[in-house]
Amino acid sequence: MIRKFFDKIYKIELPIPFPLKTTNVFLIDEPPRTLVDTGIKTDASFEMLKKSLEGLGFSIPSIERILITHGHIDHYGQAQKISSLSGAPIYIHPKEYGRIRSVIHSFGSLKSILLRNGVPEGLVNQAIRFMESTQKMADSLDEAFFLEDGETITFASMIWKTIHCPGHSPGLICFYWPEKKTLFTGDHLLKEITPNPVLYVPNNNSPLRHPGLKEYLSSLKKVEKLDVDLLLPGHGEEVHDPRGLIRKITGHHQERMDYVLSFLSRGEKTPYEITLDLFPGVPPFEVFLGISEAVGHLEILKEEGRVRVSEKEGKDYYSSEA
Ligand SMILES: [Zn+2]
Ligand SMILES: [Zn+2]
Repeated sequence: MIRKFFDKIYKIELPIPFPLKTTNVFLIDEPPRTLVDTGIKTDASFEMLKKSLEGLGFSIPSIERILITHGHIDHYGQAQKISSLSGAPIYIHPKEYGRIRSVIHSFGSLKSILLRNGVPEGLVNQAIRFMESTQKMADSLDEAFFLEDGETITFASMIWKTIHCPGHSPGLICFYWPEKKTLFTGDHLLKEITPNPVLYVPNNNSPLRHPGLKEYLSSLKKVEKLDVDLLLPGHGEEVHDPRGLIRKITGHHQERMDYVLSFLSRGEKTPYEITLDLFPGVPPFEVFLGISEAVGHLEILKEEGRVRVSEKEGKDYYSSEA
């Protein structure tokens, strides 16, 4: 399905083989003709993009610039392919570029993180196999130009601004169009689901954990301060009440945090046990997301001095300080 905004922005929904079903990409029909995100690299996604562009009187070779919100395969997967066909340069935050290039090497670290967080070895292996299998749905980027926080993106008659919103992913950037009070949010803000701050898998020489949820919550505050009326997210429908949505998400995380704390009052738990309590029967392909959510809350609680962590037989156990 295609929707049109402000006469020159077309939202195109492309299929993905995951529960969210589709990713939104946006074609901006103003020189240089720009695509915001590209969808995953599958035949179905490519055909849908091609057909949709042709239906609008455009074509893949006519794309002149590609902007990527973040380095998850459903957003950048076919960027390299489209760039090869069109010659369009790709723009992305440097942290995401680094992550994309190191993703294959990070599966070893991912395995040790999951084990450390109490996930049983059999399930860890299934989760890793699933994640490895998804990598064929994305091409690594040969070359990219970097966009940092605050940088401008110029079109013939409009100027956008890059807003770095780490949390869901360390180098996620939103694109802000002040004149129309519009923000392209990638997965930073979605209408129906609370975006999951995904646990960062470090390269070998960086620390084991990162405060993804904490960063996410401060990135929400950053967006709250912008003069914005319309959010165009990377999945699902547009949002007309950004502040209401931000309040809802913040409240949801607060509730989760309180719940995790009350669960720990019954005794020490691994992040995996907390994940199972939050998401009973979590399938292998969602284990990593569940652990990300649990660890995100635990990191904040630990920093506030409300939980402590101790290591036993290579696993982290959290208990409440009270
Ligand atoms: Zn994402
Ligand atoms: Zn996504």
